[in-house]
Amino acid sequence: MNPSDLITKHFRLIKPQISALKRLGLLTINDLLYHFPARYETAGADSQTNQLVAGEKVTLYGTLSGLKAKRLWKSRRPATEGWFEDATGKVKCMWFNQPYIASYVPEGSYVRLTGTVTGSAGRFYIASPEVEIVPPGSMSSGLFALKNRVPEIAVDARRGESGDKGVLKRTTEETQGTLKDCDLRPLASLVGKSGARNEAGAAISGALFAVYPESRGVTSKWFYHAMERVFSNDILAHMEDPIPDDVRARYNLPDIAKSLLWIHKPEKQNHAEATRKRFSFEEIFTIQVAKAQERALNDTQSSFPIKDASELAKRFFASSAFPPTAAQERATAEILQDFGKPHPMARLLEGDVGSGKTLVAAATAYAVINSRPPEREAGTLQVAYMAPTEILAEQHFQSFIEYFKHLPINIALITGSGCKKFPSKVAKGRATDISRSQLLKWVANGEISMLVGTHALIQKAVQFKHLAYAIVDEQHRFGTNQRKALVHGQKNGENSSLPHFLSMTATPIPRTFALTIYGDLDLSVLDELPPGRAKVKTQIAGAKDRDAAYETMRRELACGRQAFVVCPRIEEPDPKKMNALQAKSAKAEAKRLKKEVFPEWEIGLLHGAVKPDEKEKVMREFASGEIQILVATSVVEVGINIPNATVMMIEGAERFGLAQLHQLRGRIQRSSHPPYCFLLPGTFGEVSSKRLKALEKSDDGFALAEADLEARGAGDLFGRRQWGISDLGMEALKNPRLIKAAREEAQRVVREDASIAKHPALAERIKNISGELHSE
Ligand code: ADP
Ligand code: MG
Repeated sequence: MNPSDLITKHFRLIKPQISALKRLGLLTINDLLYHFPARYETAGADSQTNQLVAGEKVTLYGTLSGLKAKRLWKSRRPATEGWFEDATGKVKCMWFNQPYIASYVPEGSYVRLTGTVTGSAGRFYIASPEVEIVPPGSMSSGLFALKNRVPEIAVDARRGESGDKGVLKRTTEETQGTLKDCDLRPLASLVGKSGARNEAGAAISGALFAVYPESRGVTSKWFYHAMERVFSNDILAHMEDPIPDDVRARYNLPDIAKSLLWIHKPEKQNHAEATRKRFSFEEIFTIQVAKAQERALNDTQSSFPIKDASELAKRFFASSAFPPTAAQERATAEILQDFGKPHPMARLLEGDVGSGKTLVAAATAYAVINSRPPEREAGTLQVAYMAPTEILAEQHFQSFIEYFKHLPINIALITGSGCKKFPSKVAKGRATDISRSQLLKWVANGEISMLVGTHALIQKAVQFKHLAYAIVDEQHRFGTNQRKALVHGQKNGENSSLPHFLSMTATPIPRTFALTIYGDLDLSVLDELPPGRAKVKTQIAGAKDRDAAYETMRRELACGRQAFVVCPRIEEPDPKKMNALQAKSAKAEAKRLKKEVFPEWEIGLLHGAVKPDEKEKVMREFASGEIQILVATSVVEVGINIPNATVMMIEGAERFGLAQLHQLRGRIQRSSHPPYCFLLPGTFGEVSSKRLKALEKSDDGFALAEADLEARGAGDLFGRRQWGISDLGMEALKNPRLIKAAREEAQRVVREDASIAKHPALAERIKNISGELHSE
């Protein structure tokens, strides 16, 4: 038996087992070995879905999916239904008067469910069961144990001076295990104070049962026997360790053989805990090695030299309408320093909404478009600026015209709906439409110094002559491949240089997450807002506060200000479909507001299904003040700049993530007028109100992101599948010290041997995870 062998080579499987393993993504023996238990039990669940008896109270383990809010047919009472599944089958669950439950249990969560079996045989359901989301690797109590039944947000969470503590403190304290027996002291010190007693750990004496993420067809018992068989084949003794010996020694990490054995067959709770730490370290370390390799490759490429960049940026700031903030100046200096290096920059600029990332982009772009290509008497180096939507691309095109109109250069715009160029030969001081083929020609011969666009910018046909600087705005809206295409898709004429790359984002990403996911990028942070911004007053407005909120809005409108009303959906749900979520729709809300609340004001409508022409018209009218109220879906989330808007009403606020709500709120923090944000929850559950209260209290986007990370877990927050990180790895992201250690070790390994030829097992592990990492 070899780790790379297919499972089917060694196990006789029946059809449902084959498809179950496929669903779990398990093909090889190695996959099987890396299919870790979800938790350990001293005793397993007390029942299974195929053993239910009416009237009995049961505890089940399995996945919960398809949660839908609905109304009961007769009473019209709100209810939620969903399906619970374990290895033996499915059973329906019903919650009455708890319509919000769907909003805090992510689809397909692995849960512990406790409730009473109701109904008659064949049509059983569990009535209002208690649900506990079981985080990966949790024990009944221990390493990753979730203390709260219902995820809770640390409302007073602040990033603050304490650096990596703050929100994360509680977690690290909670996650200490008893590591003494495993002699993992250096690792223990990575993950928190060691030596704390763990009562549950002491209480456990008998065997621990590994409970696996199951799928219908393969039970934990099956996995147990499968592992026994694999272990009896002496496969462990021949496994190579992906973590180099010296790294393992430094942190006293158990070797791969012992770890695999312990994680599947722990004799004591701390065996399992120690190996879980090892494997979360392994995963983060592997990702970090892959990122460090990418970075090393980047640093072997050449870039365009940009001379006197800091003089040029100074000149730009001297002529700009306002002085840069200290943070803008710092970020600009970091970028300019990168411009001075022989290899291309690879940098992420992270800054809360409204922190002024565009100005940093403009100042640094200014240095580039005022530079000559090497050994040329004429022409300039070129800049590409990519934005996620046409509205944003257009808005930035206009901003850059403002910034650069005094320069003798051409600026152009390319989107799916057409191309524009500034200055225009026919209309002085304005931009005019030009044909795509004309634009492509001018980009290719270098006449256009700055090209702004949507993803239309990365089509193959767009070829630059001297692309020296590529900027991606709201980078999380693009896939890895799109971002790469902007940098690597360019032939740059006959030149082999790669452009300097700046990625910008307003999504407040917890630091551990940024260091891992964007481990190949250097980080600049704008941690201050331009001066004079009034603080947004955020208020949760329940049904009885709605009228008062409208009064505030009316007062603001009367003073000449404008307002956003954001709704969770575009259209009304089909009333015939019982299960449709009863959330406010932008279309209906716009109509209702016009008819019942604000007949005297002009109301515009914007959502994803509005045609581009119409969208542009609405945005133009809102920007010019012809429209005073813009009713929209979350398409207004990113970047839109309407300094005159001071009111933001968010309907169904509980349906948005905290980071997203924070971004929406940022839309009205663009001027010195005091802004108001009203959160209008559609349903008023305990959980949603707790989450929303965090927003009332904190206006620090990073603190909110970390609070969300703490409360809901990174997987839920950022879409685990999107990142290709396992649940175990995601849990590790809550642990700054582990991340730091894994990162330093990875960088050292790559520095010594960029090809990691000396570590074939590590290279193999990278291959396994990087396919997933890049499919994001
Ligand atoms: P974001 O980081 O969200 O992209 P923007 O670049 O759109 O933020 O800037 C938000 C607003 O702040 C814009 O109206 C911009 O003109 C203004 N702004 C940017 N920098 C400064 C500054 N240093 N002083 C005053 N206002 C500024
Ligand atoms: Mg922006």
